[in-house]
Amino acid sequence: MMARIDTLLAQGFSFSVEMSPPKTDEAAARLDDVFDALAPVHPTFASVTYGAGGSTRERTHEVVLRLLTRGDITPMAHLTSVAHSRAELVAVLTGYREAGVQNILALKGDPPPGADGWPAGDFNHAIEVVELVKEVGPFCVGVAAHPEGHPQSPDLATDRKYLAEKLRVADFAVTQFFFRVDDYLGMVEDLAARGVDKPVLPGIMPILNAGSVRRMAELCGAALPAEVIRRVEAVSDDPVSVRSVGVEIACELGSALVDAGAPGLHVYTLNKAEATLEIARALGLGSA
Ligand code: FAD
Repeated sequence: MMARIDTLLAQGFSFSVEMSPPKTDEAAARLDDVFDALAPVHPTFASVTYGAGGSTRERTHEVVLRLLTRGDITPMAHLTSVAHSRAELVAVLTGYREAGVQNILALKGDPPPGADGWPAGDFNHAIEVVELVKEVGPFCVGVAAHPEGHPQSPDLATDRKYLAEKLRVADFAVTQFFFRVDDYLGMVEDLAARGVDKPVLPGIMPILNAGSVRRMAELCGAALPAEVIRRVEAVSDDPVSVRSVGVEIACELGSALVDAGAPGLHVYTLNKAEATLEIARALGLGSA
């Protein structure tokens, strides 16, 4: 399927999924199984992450092209500018344009930990990537939004100012995962107050194991509410219960976001279909 995400968002509530490019051929084959499992619920699109400095460049490209060939789920390719020259970014984008890819998530990206000596890259901020993507082709461009503020921002208001600036040039945003509906609603209100009303898709990360969510939350600066910690820790000696409590928490958050008028839900699928399908079925999303 080839469609612009802004067109799809204008048609109604969106239900999207996020994947990472597999590291081995075996994992690539498993990812096809994940797409087979998800296809019947008709995700609006699947986004495919991009490793810092192009470390997954070919693999991201392969997964995006695989989706185009399958023809059942619209792909969106992530692209980060860190450690890339302008010419390298143009080359990646030209490849996507020629392959018929229509959707790009334009990001700054983070150098990997301990990446001293990496080239800085030609761009400092995601807005420059948005502008370049629009220059290279008639792409629909998404950007990242951080409901609790980007961890490197001096304060929330400064982050919102820059978010509003880049979303003014882009077509829509997808958020980092979060657990408090009010963080999302506060961000949408702030953007509206700055005259920006482009769709912002809330990102939901189902907790599938107690340890990993703490690590991820620390990395991306998402607060884990005491109530979420209490519910997960109450069952922490039983991995099956942790997973089902995690999916339950994701469903409650998703349902509250739907009630609050979010334009869609973006699920951090972590290359596994089952939890995402459970959320889709519980909330009646897609054709679940
Ligand atoms: P920016 O929008 O540039 O913001 C980064 C920081 O700079 C913020 O603090 C912002 O307030 C500040 N800033 C922005 N503009 C200006 C300006 N003009 N002047 C001064 N300060 C400014 N990372 C990957 O490596 N690969 C991925 O595939 C990937 N996918 C992601 C998907 C989503 C939905 C999200 C939310 C994040 C993703 N990330 C990914 C992580 C992202 O790359 C990091 O959070 C990164 O640190 C910031 O990227 P950004 O695009 O938000 O940057």
